[in-house]
Amino acid sequence: MDTIFSNLTPAFVKPADGSPLIVAGPCSAESRQQLLDTARQLAATGVRYLRAGVWKPRTMPGGFEGRGSVALTWLREAEEKFGLQAATEVANETHTTEALQAGIRILWLGARTTANPFAVQEIADAISRFNTENGHAGSPVAVMVKNPVNPDLELWIGAIARLYNAGITHITAVHRGFSAYGLKSYRNAPHWHIPIELHRRIPTLQILCDPSHIGGRRELIAPLSQEALDIRFDGLIIETHCDPVHALSDSAQQITPDELRHILASLSTRRNTVASEELTRLRGALDQLDDQLIDILSRRMAIAREIGALKKVNDMTVVQPQRYEQLMASRIEQAQAAGLPAPFMQRLFSTIHAESVAQQARILNTSGTDL
Ligand code: PEP
Ligand code: MN
Repeated sequence: MDTIFSNLTPAFVKPADGSPLIVAGPCSAESRQQLLDTARQLAATGVRYLRAGVWKPRTMPGGFEGRGSVALTWLREAEEKFGLQAATEVANETHTTEALQAGIRILWLGARTTANPFAVQEIADAISRFNTENGHAGSPVAVMVKNPVNPDLELWIGAIARLYNAGITHITAVHRGFSAYGLKSYRNAPHWHIPIELHRRIPTLQILCDPSHIGGRRELIAPLSQEALDIRFDGLIIETHCDPVHALSDSAQQITPDELRHILASLSTRRNTVASEELTRLRGALDQLDDQLIDILSRRMAIAREIGALKKVNDMTVVQPQRYEQLMASRIEQAQAAGLPAPFMQRLFSTIHAESVAQQARILNTSGTDL
């Protein structure tokens, strides 16, 4: 059954002046000194929320796997010394209870954990147990849910629902991109339409963008952050380290608190939500064209079904590869001449063609002609 997220509350409070909400801090808490230095500089920049990994989910064994629970006390010290609220990653029940018992009130699920419903459930249950035992004393436990490693919106929503169903209402989602095989310009490619669809499905859910794990390189943080704000994300989570070059994990993507301050000062926040007359007119024109597109698609599918019935009578397979090749090549050529990019046309026509094939296959599999 679908979860109705009626009581959802953001994990983070947005700055009152309309500037973007920022969560910043090192990939990993490496030492007390490193964490306190970074936290002090961040607090001076106006950052209120500190991130630092204590248990690090490394792809390959043998790397730096975090300092473990001792680092939780450094996070608490940074909170108290600099008036910050600290967040750390938990990947199982033990991490969760240790972090909560140490007094950390913001937890996050990393991309590898969100992809694992057993781990998510175990964490949700551990938080719920902690809440019951402590009678919700103090601030409520808040959880950030990063997208799963693979572009699977249902898996992402499923993790959020497991937490919510366990009574956790303070939830924020984080788009950190999706991994893919092969060389790429991003470490984890952003699929902006996925968080946009997540927002459409759960409008009250706060969503941050993590340009550090999307880009994987510090030069990409500024452009990705601007792109995220232009898309209307609620804020950014950015890996920041007092000495990035010597960081024990994710060195190439971390920036100093000073670099963070420069990037934040360079970002434009577009705050106007009122459409001008011209914008309204152009939207009206789009609405009309979309009406025509829908009408054309519905007529196209009706003809495809007629063809399906004929293929059945003539004992032909649904997919005729030669015809498909021709159709794709000619449509792409035509579209390019009209100024439309070939990859877009490729995606669009393969989607349309796949639906025609599905509708025709249904006809071939039903007895008699139902046209
Ligand atoms: C992290 O935030 O340091 C981290 C491990 O991120 P992700 O789960 O997005 O890979
Ligand atoms: Mn990291």
